[in-house]
Amino acid sequence: MTLRQHLQIRHPLRLTALVSACALLIAMIAFATYRISQQMGLAEMQITGRHRLDLYAASLEREIVKYAYFPSTLGLEQSVLQLLTHPNDPKLVAKVNSFLEQVNERAGTLSIYVMDNKGQVHASSNWRRPDSFIGEDLSFRSYFRDAMETGTGRFFGIGTTRSEPGYYLSSAVENRNGTLGVAIVKVSLEQLEKSWTTVETPVLVSDENGVVILTSVPDWKFTTLLPLDDRTRTAFDRTQQYNRRALQSLGVREISRLGNGARLVNVARHKQELVSPYPVSGRFMEQSLPLPGTKWSLTVFTPLDAVDDMSTTRAAVAAVSTLLLCILALLVNQRRRHLRDLLAASQALQKAHDELERKVAERTADLSSANRQLQEEVVERVRAERSLRATQDGLIQAGKLAVIGQLSTGIAHELNQPLAALRTLSGNTMRFLERGDATTARSNLERIAQIVDRMGQITGQLKAFAHKSSGRPQAVDVRQVVAHAVALLDQRLKTSATEIRTDFPDSPLEAWCDPNRLEQVLINLLGNALDAMAGLASPRIDINGCEEGMMIRLEVRDHGPGLSDEALARLFEPFYTTKEVGVGLGLGLTISAGIVSDFGGTLTGDNHPDGGACFTLVIPKS
Ligand code: ADP
Repeated sequence: MTLRQHLQIRHPLRLTALVSACALLIAMIAFATYRISQQMGLAEMQITGRHRLDLYAASLEREIVKYAYFPSTLGLEQSVLQLLTHPNDPKLVAKVNSFLEQVNERAGTLSIYVMDNKGQVHASSNWRRPDSFIGEDLSFRSYFRDAMETGTGRFFGIGTTRSEPGYYLSSAVENRNGTLGVAIVKVSLEQLEKSWTTVETPVLVSDENGVVILTSVPDWKFTTLLPLDDRTRTAFDRTQQYNRRALQSLGVREISRLGNGARLVNVARHKQELVSPYPVSGRFMEQSLPLPGTKWSLTVFTPLDAVDDMSTTRAAVAAVSTLLLCILALLVNQRRRHLRDLLAASQALQKAHDELERKVAERTADLSSANRQLQEEVVERVRAERSLRATQDGLIQAGKLAVIGQLSTGIAHELNQPLAALRTLSGNTMRFLERGDATTARSNLERIAQIVDRMGQITGQLKAFAHKSSGRPQAVDVRQVVAHAVALLDQRLKTSATEIRTDFPDSPLEAWCDPNRLEQVLINLLGNALDAMAGLASPRIDINGCEEGMMIRLEVRDHGPGLSDEALARLFEPFYTTKEVGVGLGLGLTISAGIVSDFGGTLTGDNHPDGGACFTLVIPKS
């Protein structure tokens, strides 16, 4: 899983911005920590440096003070005073020379000598040596002039004779008549530097010219802190202060000032750097202090390495901590966002749920109201249907009663005649039998049998009419029923050479009825058509069927003489027939109309415009 996936950051720009912001924050905090840490370190270092300065200055001062009053004590010595009054007295010279030699040895100083008020050396501790100062004119030395003018003089310089660097302390030798001369004590630098054997950082003393005269770093001796101009160099040549030493620059370059005389500097690396217990080049904090009673300055260089290291370490720790905090913040933020998303999703879900519930409640209310309405409508319909059925039943009943009435009249009419004939015939037959006329009696009995058969025919048809509603309605392809009815009449059709022409759609023509009863109706219609066309040259029956809305329409047309006006008026009347007795009963169309009516349809008969009778069946579609 990448960081982006883990943090669920969808937009790459957002990730870049986030990482950049974190990097910037880390950099800023690291930098700030570094700077603050450095400032604090420098402040601490400044205090330590200041202590060191005070310490080194004090120890140096102690060394110098040790010799400070030394030259003036020489002016108390009678032999010195006498010598300066009588400088050409060899005895006195020898005495003072010996005295100075002894004192020099005891004090551990480099040399002690006495000059007259013209600057000429008259006695010296090094009188035995061939390069002794005796007889030399050192009036050019500043310590001589200073002592003559102010009573004392201090001077750092390099000896003109032996090129030995040293600290010259001078004091005017006076008596009641004025200044007789100057007594000088030269102290070796090593002696002063002894106090610095344990220093931890580079330390130096520079004179008023910025020349390093004392230092814990041997390499730095007789280098300059300040660049020397030509005028100063010429002056040095004149006073031979540094006895023509090269006086190279120490190479101190200021980086910044810190206040309280402290500054950050960079000390250049020297060509032949000695092995040193502390760094002698690089970055330092430089702190200076003027040494009281001298024109010198004491300077301490504290290396910045420790502060730099500490600041770098702290900055690194701060950077790592910030990085961790950033990651933590990102994770917390991501978690918070995740929780917020979850909460939002849960709220959205709850809202959707509430909305759904509200809609369900609304729909339920609608549905129950619609349901109530529907129930009311259903109840209303049921009521209406019941009342319709009651009306229908009443009508059917009335219709049936009418048919029964008609039938009863017909039956009574049809049966009364044969019954009367039967009574007459049976009475006659009895008489003929009594007379022994068996032939006539047999003829009568045959006649009676014919009459009974005819009566049986009538009751048979009535029976069929009575059982008309026994079949169950179903989906019936009218084309098949027609084909079946035609097949049943096949013999008659062939005998009469009648052509059957059908016109049906290709798809099933399904009606909702009892197929056997429909077949019965068709057989009756086809039979009537064949009867009507009996004797014609080319009899033909056209049968066509089609859908008509929710109904199926079926037409059976013949090419016979058609229906007479009377027949049109009485077609469906029971026992109406134009056929001969024994051929037609006049019940076929009556029964057929009843069957079709039971299907919920109608049967009508009419004359075709082009001739022939046409019977039309309209029955419901399945
Ligand atoms: P039946 O066939 O026993 O006479 P029907 O009720 O079937 O009884 O027919 C009644 C009468 O209607 C017939 O006698 C006939 O006069 C007339 N009729 C029926 N069909 C036709 C027809 N296709 N052409 C002419 N007359 C017809």
